[in-house]
Amino acid sequence: MVLLRFAPSPTGPLHLGGLRMALYNHLFAKKHGGKWILRIEDTDATRYVPGSVEGIRKALDWAGLEYDFGPGKNGPHAPYYQSERLDLYKEYSKKLLETGHAYRCFCSMDRLADVREKLARTGSNATYDRECLHLTEEEVARRVKAGEKSIVRLNGTQLPARPTGVDLIFGQLKDAHASLATDPILLKSDLFPTYHLASVVDDHEMGITHVLRGEEWLPSLPLHLDLYAALKLAPPQFAHLPILLNADGSKMSKRNGDVQVEDYIRRGWEPVSVLNWLALAGWGAKHNPNDHPHPEGTPCTHTHTDAPDSTAVYTLPELITEFDLSAVTHRNSSLDPMKLEYLNKQHLLRERGTPEGLRGVAERVHGYVKESFPESPYTSTGMIEKAIELLEGRLTNLKELPIHAYYLFEEPDLGSEEAREMRGMFDPVDREKVLSAVHAKLAALPTPWTPETEGELQKILHGVRKEIKVPTKVFMKTLRHALTGFKDGPSIPDIVRVLGPERTLGRLKRQLE
Ligand code: GLU
Repeated sequence: MVLLRFAPSPTGPLHLGGLRMALYNHLFAKKHGGKWILRIEDTDATRYVPGSVEGIRKALDWAGLEYDFGPGKNGPHAPYYQSERLDLYKEYSKKLLETGHAYRCFCSMDRLADVREKLARTGSNATYDRECLHLTEEEVARRVKAGEKSIVRLNGTQLPARPTGVDLIFGQLKDAHASLATDPILLKSDLFPTYHLASVVDDHEMGITHVLRGEEWLPSLPLHLDLYAALKLAPPQFAHLPILLNADGSKMSKRNGDVQVEDYIRRGWEPVSVLNWLALAGWGAKHNPNDHPHPEGTPCTHTHTDAPDSTAVYTLPELITEFDLSAVTHRNSSLDPMKLEYLNKQHLLRERGTPEGLRGVAERVHGYVKESFPESPYTSTGMIEKAIELLEGRLTNLKELPIHAYYLFEEPDLGSEEAREMRGMFDPVDREKVLSAVHAKLAALPTPWTPETEGELQKILHGVRKEIKVPTKVFMKTLRHALTGFKDGPSIPDIVRVLGPERTLGRLKRQLE
C-alpha cells in the first residue's frame, strides 16, 4: 500500500502552495488506494508560530482533505510531531557515529563563520575545513564527558556509493553534490535534528513509500540519498512539485494578493473550486511517457490531445480519478485568479443543478445574507434559493449574493449614485407612463399569483409595453430602476416573480408618489 505524508512546518498559516502539496499527496494516495499522514515538522523552535497547527488543520478540514493519521488521529505511526520523536533522531545519529558516517564537531559559531569566510575567499566550494573530523576517539569522549557542546555532522569522506537519484517529476538527477554544504549538520547542539536527518528518519520509520514535496527540496535529495545509503536503508520514491507562481510568472507573495488559505476561506470561495484550481496548476495530460519520452532536461512541448483542459471542472473524487503523477509538469505552475472565478462559477452552477444541491448552496449562503440584512423578514432559505436561481450564471462567488441581489432582502437604494444617474436618463413622462400602466395591470391580477400567472409575466409585461408604445429599452430600464436601483441584472419578469405582487406593487407605487 502506498503511504505518503504532508509535512508542514508550523511557521504560520497554511499558504496556497502548502494546500496544493497536501492536495497532491491526497490525490496520489487515494488514487492508489493508499493513505497519508499529517506530520508536523516542528524541530526549529526559532521559527515556531503558536496556533499554526490549528490553522493548518482548519484549512485542511475546510478543503475536505482528510488525513488518515496525524494530530488528533492517532495510528500506527504516532507521534506525529517531530519534537516528540527526538529519541529516534538521537538513536539514528548514534548509529551513524558508530559506523563512522558521522562525527562530532565542537567548533564554535565564531570559528565556523571565520572558516566559511576564509574558504569563500580562496574560491573554494567547501563550507567547513573538517577540523573536528580528525579528533581522536579519546579526545571526543573526553570533551563530551566534560560537557562541551557539540553537533553531529555527516562524514562526507566516508559515503557509500549513492544510488542514482531519480525524481518522478524532474527525472534523472544530475550530480548535485557541488551545491551541498561540507559535511551537513544532522543533529544540533540542543539535540534537535536538522530537517535532513529528521525527514529521512521519519520517512523510513513511518514506512513512507512516496515523498511528494516542494521543488525547494530537490537540491537536498542527493544528501538524503547519501543518508539512506549510510544507514543501509532503501529510500522511498521522490517527486518534487514545481513552485507555484502568479499568472504573470512572478513569485507568489503577500504583496501580490492572497496567498494564505484563510484569505480564500474569508472571501467565500468554494473549497472544491480552490482544490480544482490548485490541481490544474501543473496538471499534466494523461499520457504514457513511454509513448512520448521527454529527453532529459527538456520541457515537454508536444500537445496532448487527451489532456484535460486547464479549466476542466472537477470535484475532489473526480480529481482522484483523473490524477496522473507521471503527467505532472516540471515547469513552474502558475495560478490565474480569473480561472478561480470561472471554476467557482461553474461549480456553483453544477451544484445547484439538483434540488438538494440548491438547498445546500442556499444553506451556505444563508449566514452571509443574515449578516448583511439582520432585520430583513425576507431571508428564509426559500427566498435565498430563489435569489440563487435568479442570479443564474452571474454569481461568481457566494459572498456576492447579498450584494447583487440585495433588493430581494430590502428596499432598493434609489439614492445611490448608480440609481440617480439612471433616473436622469429617462423622460419623466415616459417613466410615469410605464410605472402606472404596469402597476395597474399587475394590481388587477388575482393574488396570490399562481405558477401560471408567474409563467405569464413576460407576456403580460410585453402586452403593457405594446399598449403604451414606449421603446423596450426605456420600458425595461424604468422598471429595473424602480425595482432594483441597478442598471443591469436578471430579467424583469423574473425579478417581479421573485419579489411577488405585494413588494412589486409597493415599489412601483412609491415611485409614482
Ligand atoms: N517541513 C518542510 C516544509 O514545510 C516539508 C518538507 C517535506 O515535505 O519533506 O517545507
